Amino acid sequence: MASLQHNSQSGEHGARHGGERDPEQGADRPAGDPTASAVRRDLAVRARDLAVRAAVEQGLISETEPVVALLDVAGIRASAAALRTAFEEITAPGTPVLHAFAVKAAPLVPLLRLLDAQGIGAEVASPGELALARAAGVPADRTVLDSPAKTTAELREALALGIAVNADNPQELDRIDSLVGSGPMRSPVGLRINAQIGGGSIGALSTATTTSKFGVALRDEGARAWVVQAYLDRPWLTRLHTHSGSQGVPLELMARGVRTVYELAEEINAAAGRRQIDTLDIGGGLPVNFASDEETPTYAAYARLLKDTVPELLDGRYGLVTEFGRSLLAKHGLVLARVEYVKSAGGRPIAVTHAGAQVATRTVYDPVSWPLRIAAYDTEGRPRTGPAVAQDIAGPACFAGDLLAENRPVQRLEQGDLVAALDTGAYYFTNHYAYNSLARPGVHGFTETSGGEVRFATVRAPQRVEEIVAESGGAYADALLDG
Ligand SMILES: *Cc1c(COP(=O)(O)O)cnc(C)c1O
Repeated sequence: MASLQHNSQSGEHGARHGGERDPEQGADRPAGDPTASAVRRDLAVRARDLAVRAAVEQGLISETEPVVALLDVAGIRASAAALRTAFEEITAPGTPVLHAFAVKAAPLVPLLRLLDAQGIGAEVASPGELALARAAGVPADRTVLDSPAKTTAELREALALGIAVNADNPQELDRIDSLVGSGPMRSPVGLRINAQIGGGSIGALSTATTTSKFGVALRDEGARAWVVQAYLDRPWLTRLHTHSGSQGVPLELMARGVRTVYELAEEINAAAGRRQIDTLDIGGGLPVNFASDEETPTYAAYARLLKDTVPELLDGRYGLVTEFGRSLLAKHGLVLARVEYVKSAGGRPIAVTHAGAQVATRTVYDPVSWPLRIAAYDTEGRPRTGPAVAQDIAGPACFAGDLLAENRPVQRLEQGDLVAALDTGAYYFTNHYAYNSLARPGVHGFTETSGGEVRFATVRAPQRVEEIVAESGGAYADALLDG
């Protein structure tokens, strides 16, 4: 159990990041909110420091488990509640709203079940993700299938289960036509639209560029008329879908994408002479602040922007589906890794840790787009204090670029210390990269009891070396020998 004295230290620790603030975000925050957000931030820092300390004391991180991932269960619950509340506040009473968590952001069955219990369904984009959602017990009517390359078998399964399907392109619609036959359609089906409104600061995550691979490119010649006719020809096509991008896409651009599909829905319904389209799926993509403990932008801020940009969408005539991933989880997860060695090269101190490309793939390959904050702890899991020294925080993989952070001012690390890579609850340790056959680390959820104790629950066991052998053709050892 962590000591009280530790709590006061965690305050200092948090203050280290406290001065940073996203200048964009302050403006539209209502009076009073900054205090609430500061309280939330301090609670998050305190919870994290307690969890690190407890992970050491309870032996979660050790010589044999030198890297581990932690999820803050209370933080996740709070994010889910904030999302629900934000949309309740902007929609007319009785408006059906389904929040479907983008499973790719954190494909873990217990997590999907936790979110389901908080009223959040699942957006899946592969047979594996659908299987995870089903294993978690997410009901069919709260599951949305968006795979970009759905096979006929995948479509058939989805339609048989009655889960919502968003078709990506004309050929996929043709396939659905032949699967539907004359039978009744149980699944709500929509068409994904690329509003072609432009990209954000990270090209790889910008889905609404002129030439994006996703959806029907609405501004291409003849596309709009084709879409309208596609709906008139298919009475069961009742939804429209768009997802304008993820991290790096400005909120205004996301809202403009929603406005575009709203106007298209109105045009289709007018042409049909009835309210054929009854639901708009507006995707996910709320960016996350990786620079400090502030949770900005908030769901409330995005919801208010939607209300300003496309108020008619929220008047109760349309149901809504959202597909947030990163923003629900990122701030509530961290990777904790032991510093195996410290050394120096060319005058630069280097901490060689057990967290690198296998748990922070995007950061390692594209550090400019994906900088991560690093917090330093001593061997007992207490926040390191003292002056920061520019260091490389290196990983265990065999290539020079395997760095969590380069030339980063952090309290000077020693052998046996711990580093925490913060804000890694989405798309990091949950999206393991098997370079060097490095094992998938264990994932543990943590909660603080009313007695101030930290309780861990295993979400994913650490991968064992025998499992790596089995998954690497261990059963076919002789396969390539001839004769
Ligand atoms: C990835 C993705 C999302 C989630 O994006 P986040 O940035 O994690 O919120 C939602 N919808 C679709 C179709 C996606 O591909």
